[in-house]
Amino acid sequence: MKPFPPKNPCPCHSGDTYMACCRPFHQGKAAPTPVKLMRARYSAYALQNAEFIMQTTHRESPHYKTDKRLWRAEILAFTQQTEFIALTILNTTADTVTFRAGLLQNQRDASFTERSTFKRMDGKWQYVSGVYD
Ligand SMILES: [Zn+2]
Repeated sequence: MKPFPPKNPCPCHSGDTYMACCRPFHQGKAAPTPVKLMRARYSAYALQNAEFIMQTTHRESPHYKTDKRLWRAEILAFTQQTEFIALTILNTTADTVTFRAGLLQNQRDASFTERSTFKRMDGKWQYVSGVYD
């Protein structure tokens, strides 16, 4: 994970500082809502925090991998070739978040809109899957 100053603006683009936004979740606090977890996962990608992505992916998720070394390498490869420039939350329900992620890869627009589904496990929200809109 990249070192990141706690008082800098949060990489999830909420406008809050990192310490007032996603940092507590990266430090192990349970996200109280799917949208907070979604934001924390976005900022974890931006900070190349592969552990957080793996820990918050539900075991039933199609993205879940038992080979953690391979999975970590794939996440890091994605984060290292991507700039995470914007995040807009479009809609939320009890267990879904629809968002637009603004991404750049090799200076090209790689933005997408996704509706993610979340499930609680052991009292913690986890990411299950997403569909592109
Ligand atoms: Zn944040």
